[in-house]
Amino acid sequence: MKAKLFVSKLNQITKALISMTPAQREVVHQSIQALDTDIPIDELIQPLFDAKSQCPHCYSSKFNKWGKAGGIQRYRCINCSKTFNNKTKTPLARLHKSHIWEEYAHCMELRLTLRQAAKICEINLKTAFLWRHRFLQAQAGKNDDKLSGIIEVDEFFLAYSEKGDKKLTLPQQARKRGGDIDKRTKEGQVAILLSIDRSKHMIAPILSADTFSEIAINFTENIEENSVLCSDGSWAYVKIAKQKHCDHKRLINNKIRVMDNIYHIQTVNGAIANFKAWVNGRMKGVATKYLSNYLAWFKESSAKLDKQQILLSAYGRQQYDGT
Ligand SMILES: [Zn+2]
Repeated sequence: MKAKLFVSKLNQITKALISMTPAQREVVHQSIQALDTDIPIDELIQPLFDAKSQCPHCYSSKFNKWGKAGGIQRYRCINCSKTFNNKTKTPLARLHKSHIWEEYAHCMELRLTLRQAAKICEINLKTAFLWRHRFLQAQAGKNDDKLSGIIEVDEFFLAYSEKGDKKLTLPQQARKRGGDIDKRTKEGQVAILLSIDRSKHMIAPILSADTFSEIAINFTENIEENSVLCSDGSWAYVKIAKQKHCDHKRLINNKIRVMDNIYHIQTVNGAIANFKAWVNGRMKGVATKYLSNYLAWFKESSAKLDKQQILLSAYGRQQYDGT
């Protein structure tokens, strides 16, 4: 297409887009994504493997090619004599049927339920469940986005759930379980902090209690100094804003909703409502021990990451293994 023609077409498209509702624009967005050509997964992963160029067992950089298995290149380490391929010791390692992963990652991108994803990929529910959490592990708990500019923050609660955990039937037994799983504050509630800036960076740490110190630990390090912090009336944020030299806009319940037309917490509250509707509605509730996986998933799909990025982030976890 010639440049002049392209410009006139582009103007028509832009005009049409402006006249659409957000829902109609989303349909257009999905059509564009469907046009994007896909790179086969091995082509996607091989450059990452080549860049690291080390044995996943002993981290030696000295290894040789060692034949192929199922069309996939194998290698043998000169130092430890073990063999491996480009997925060994990554979350993708023991997942077979790699041609279906891409389809599955696409289902995750669309935030489909297990049953829907299993049907589309023609795999059983157990496999669908295993894959979901393998793919999500890589992102879970990674709340390292730095927020800046206008930052909105709020907390919310979800009911504690042991969904799917058949071994735990007695409530007394359940309470004895400690560690990360048992992040409860009020009776039967899990507190989550959600914060978004206007460039759509997001963090969503699970708090072990809805207290100032928990909020401070999980939030202070993730905001840039001299930002504008929009929160509700909670005192925790007054201290944090002061500490980080942020201009603080407190939207105190029901009295003020928007200040100077731009300062509000409606984006973060919208995201919280979406997350709750998704986990409690479509997903029919999720187990608390998997909550950080779902938050990561939500964060990724809100940022409109695509299936290739889901697969790449799952692969990239190799770098953090054993450290
Ligand atoms: Zn080795």
